[in-house]
Amino acid sequence: MDEKQHRIAFAYFLENWTFSKDSSDYLRANGEKITPEEYRSDMKGSVFCPECSTPLSRAPEIAEIFTNERTAHFRHKGTYKAIYCSLRVSRAAGLQYHSEEEARRAIQNENLVLIGGWAENPPEIRDDDDADLEFRQTQIVDPDGPMTEMPLGRHIGRTVLLPTKISSVLAICRNFDKNIHRAFYFPDSQYALHLRSILYDVTRLIDSELPERGNLYFGKIVGFSRLSHRNIIYLKVENFPELKIYTYPRFDERKKIDSESVGRVLLFYGIVSDKGEGVPRCMTTTWGQYSLLPKQYEKFLPWYTSN
Ligand SMILES: [Zn+2]
Repeated sequence: MDEKQHRIAFAYFLENWTFSKDSSDYLRANGEKITPEEYRSDMKGSVFCPECSTPLSRAPEIAEIFTNERTAHFRHKGTYKAIYCSLRVSRAAGLQYHSEEEARRAIQNENLVLIGGWAENPPEIRDDDDADLEFRQTQIVDPDGPMTEMPLGRHIGRTVLLPTKISSVLAICRNFDKNIHRAFYFPDSQYALHLRSILYDVTRLIDSELPERGNLYFGKIVGFSRLSHRNIIYLKVENFPELKIYTYPRFDERKKIDSESVGRVLLFYGIVSDKGEGVPRCMTTTWGQYSLLPKQYEKFLPWYTSN
C-alpha cells in the first residue's frame, strides 16, 4: 500500500513490431503478455509497455542463477522520456488529476475506474449450473452507478463528483489483465492508484500492525469451513497462525467457493481486524466484496512471497 512497487505486471512481447511506426492496437491484439519472470534474453528489444507501447527493458537484464527473481521488473527507457505514461511516473501520493475534465477523460478512456460501493446482492441469473456464468454476464458492470466524490491533485484541494462503474470485486477479477494497469479509486481512498499498487498480499500482514482502513487484499485459500450461518475461508499467512474471512453461504454457493477452492486465489475488499481477540479476520457483509481470481491471472499479482 505504501511501499514503492513495480507497476508493470506484464509487457507485450512481439517480434518485428516498431514503436511509433506500427499500431498500438495491433500490439495489444497480437503481443504475448509476459511477466518479468517470464522474460528471456532473446526477447530483448521486442517487449513493450502495456500503456504507452514504448520498448521496455528488464532489470536485471540477464537472470542469474542466484538472483532473487521476485525483484525482476520492467523498466522504461530514457530515450522515450518525452512520451507520457502513468506507469512510468513515480508519485508516492497516487495519481493526480488536475482538472475535472482530465479526470473525466481518464474515466472515458478507461484508465481510471471509480468504485462507489459494493453490491449487497448478486444480479439475477437464469442458469446457475454454469460455473463460469457469473464471470461472463454483462450486468456485473453497472453502467449507471452512483456518483462519488474524488479529490483532484493534492495542491488543488477540490473534489469532483464523478460516475462510478464497478460495484463488485468480481468485475475487477473478470478483466483482470486490463484492470491491473488501470487506476482505481475506492470508496474510502485518499487518491487514485494503479490496481497493482493497491493489491496487498495478506502474507505481508503482521497482526500487531493491522491497517485500520479497508483495502483490496489477495491471498491463497488454504482451508474452507461451513458453519450454519457463516462460512470461513482461510488464507495463507506468514506472521500469525491463521486469517479467517467470514462469508455468507448463499454468496459462496453462487461464487462456487467451497473446499474445492483450496489452492485458488481470493481477492477481497475489507478491514482485517483482530477485534482484540488475537485472531485476525475479515467479516464480509456483501456479495460484491470478494471473488475468486481466474487462475490465468495469478501471475500478474504483486506476490510478496513465493508460492
Ligand atoms: Zn509506458
